[in-house]
Amino acid sequence: MNELPANTQGLILDMDGVLWADSQALIDLPATFARFKQLRLGVTLATNNGTRTVDQYVEKLAGFGVQIEPWQVLTSALGVAELVARRFPPGTPLFVIGGSGVYAALRAKDFDLLPVEQAQRAEAVVFGIDRAISFEKMVEATLLVRAGRPFYATNTDRTFPTPRGQIPGAGSWLSVITTASERQPEVAGKPSPTILQMALERLGTPREQTFVVGDRLETDIAGGQALGCPTALVLTGVSTQAQGLAWQPKIDRIASSLAALVGLTD
Ligand SMILES: [Mg+2]
Repeated sequence: MNELPANTQGLILDMDGVLWADSQALIDLPATFARFKQLRLGVTLATNNGTRTVDQYVEKLAGFGVQIEPWQVLTSALGVAELVARRFPPGTPLFVIGGSGVYAALRAKDFDLLPVEQAQRAEAVVFGIDRAISFEKMVEATLLVRAGRPFYATNTDRTFPTPRGQIPGAGSWLSVITTASERQPEVAGKPSPTILQMALERLGTPREQTFVVGDRLETDIAGGQALGCPTALVLTGVSTQAQGLAWQPKIDRIASSLAALVGLTD
């Protein structure tokens, strides 16, 4: 399988389907990250999954024997907080549907996160997967969006992989609000370039020498191409080799796994 060009300086990696499937590592992670060091590749991790916090990802990697720094982790929750902060000052009241990742990212930017009873005061709506989603929360979000409040979402992935199969992802839940309001949110996750752009800025490597690596064509690969980076599809997750070969514009590398991409395995 193909390996990276010798002048490659950075990698922006997807996590689910690239590093692991749920709690199962897909490759030898310590050896693969050691190989990045050996090749002097800067690495950031960028995921559409906004349910976990950065610290939770650092801990998860540590559980697999890989040490990374918090600055290396970008989630769609950080991305959505960045989008809101570009438009609204700290202290702005927001109505948020989301998990701990979204709450932590918005709190870090000092927004006023309203309880559902006070949702009417919100100046904007932020949406991510929420395991405590309720009829009331969906009603309040829909009313705010219909009333013209700016509307943001972590990502639009329709499904979310679990050991039991694909369950409804943020995009599926979001469709309740978009159907009822006939409005679409501003989205942080891939294929929007927001989190990939943040990952590239943190790496500080040249765009043309930074590979965006993922397992899903319509998010990872499309997002990398939108940002103008070379892209690599790995076949340990959602998309197949045949789908990768058929994708336009052409993908720069297709590898059986992330380990194979850096020449560690075939
Ligand atoms: Mg993935």
